[in-house]
Amino acid sequence: MTTLLDELTAIVGPTHVLTDPELTAGYVTDWTGYWTGHTVAVVRPGSTAEVSAVLAACYRAGQPVVPQGGNTGLVGGSVPLDGEVVLSMLRLNRIEEVDPVGRTLAADAGVSVARAQEAARAHGLILGTDLASRESATLGGIVATNAGGIAMIKNGSTRSRVLGVEAVLADGRVLTRWIPLVKDNIGYDLPGLLTGSEGTLAVITRVLMRLVTPARATATALAGVPSAAAALELRDALGRAGLTLEAAELMTAAGMRLVVDHAGLRPPLAQPAPYTVLVEVSGSDDVAAAAAAVLADCEGLIDAVLEEGHSAKLWRFRESHTETIAASTITPVVKLDVAVPLRRMEEFLDRLTELLAAEFPTIRPICFGHFADGNIHVNLLDAPVDERDAATNRVFELIRDLGGSISAEHGIGRAKNPWISFGRDPVDRAAMGAIRAALDPGRVLNPHVLKLG
Ligand SMILES: Cc1cc2nc3c(=O)[nH]c(=O)nc-3n(C[C@H](O)[C@H](O)[C@H](O)COP(=O)(O)OP(=O)(O)OC[C@H]3O[C@@H](n4cnc5c(N)ncnc54)[C@H](O)[C@@H]3O)c2cc1C
Repeated sequence: MTTLLDELTAIVGPTHVLTDPELTAGYVTDWTGYWTGHTVAVVRPGSTAEVSAVLAACYRAGQPVVPQGGNTGLVGGSVPLDGEVVLSMLRLNRIEEVDPVGRTLAADAGVSVARAQEAARAHGLILGTDLASRESATLGGIVATNAGGIAMIKNGSTRSRVLGVEAVLADGRVLTRWIPLVKDNIGYDLPGLLTGSEGTLAVITRVLMRLVTPARATATALAGVPSAAAALELRDALGRAGLTLEAAELMTAAGMRLVVDHAGLRPPLAQPAPYTVLVEVSGSDDVAAAAAAVLADCEGLIDAVLEEGHSAKLWRFRESHTETIAASTITPVVKLDVAVPLRRMEEFLDRLTELLAAEFPTIRPICFGHFADGNIHVNLLDAPVDERDAATNRVFELIRDLGGSISAEHGIGRAKNPWISFGRDPVDRAAMGAIRAALDPGRVLNPHVLKLG
């Protein structure tokens, strides 16, 4: 180990190899506080060449490595639980170019989503992926996890906007697929393969993203509705009126109460509702008037507020959910990020409430999420540590029964390993395993993440 550490120190310099537990503490615990490990060293390379040399050295030594971006992942995939080297990508933080004609952004993997967004906006464009962790989550992280987020309903997945990547393979070789064209059909889609690979196939060092033209005029509404079915009906009514959904989020009465109490906010609606929907829509210049007309006609609507533009005030009720939940539980929150077919969402929410009340009465569930994508974040608060897995298993069995997915956007990481067979059959897992073995035969990249069984 001393020899490897000497070698890593020679590559990145002594200030960028951290071994003191006080200095490594922030890198070995995940955002939820549940996954905490230890590391032989945190290594902070400053260039692709350094990433390549570090990986080559670890590969020769058979030393496992965990790539880490902003460490905002929610499935325990970015932290070293078995003494892996942490490869922090945060020093690779250069925005290379925004091309307003080709509508692309080229940047290092360690650039935060917020900085990339700012750079795109300076040219009248947007990144297309947006999420509440934007200040810390990195471009490498959103590509490695194929992040979803609040803009996916409008702009599609992160994968659909990755045009190119530069990535370092496990043995240190640099793979460059960097073609700023939306049409390029030569062979396998390697950027698409690395997107969502959770640091198991390569370390992404640079990304080339297709940017999006933002809507000219938007309006934001919070609407109280009696059911998830009514939320979907509101979505349809907005579409029939010619409005485009920029975002569509669902919150429950329990989640709204928690956020209002925790953040000391005034309840936004005069009457509490079983579900509160946040929609941001775009369309004609008088989009707010058009949205108001739809709300006025909406059957069963309990109450609504509407503001012109992107209303940070209204979005706060949704964006405060994750942090409020983390601060409101006596045990680390169990985060289950599931998707269900839209026509079964109401049934899912009802059956989930019933089964948790019957089988895990001390657990407090709070659900919210990007409902128009069928994506619900199920958060289990106050879950006794010895009930975490049993409760997860029951929720995932329900998801499987309903034809849903156990991981809509956060990935498998460590947390979902035991349930991967719920979503991928043996042949599918064997094909993924063959790809992994071909690219990382020494199994040094995130060996405990995305275990294919
Ligand atoms: C408040 C909050 C809100 C969130 N909202 C959303 C949301 O709406 N949608 C969503 O999808 N996620 C969401 N997340 C989860 C998280 O922010 C995303 O998964 C994000 O993409 C992780 O980026 P990161 O840079 O923090 O990656 P990390 O957490 O550091 O790593 C995540 C995974 O990617 C790998 N990885 C990281 N960087 C690289 C790289 N350069 N090369 C190869 N592998 C790499 C890691 O090994 C790990 O497996 C949220 C998290 C929080 C805390």
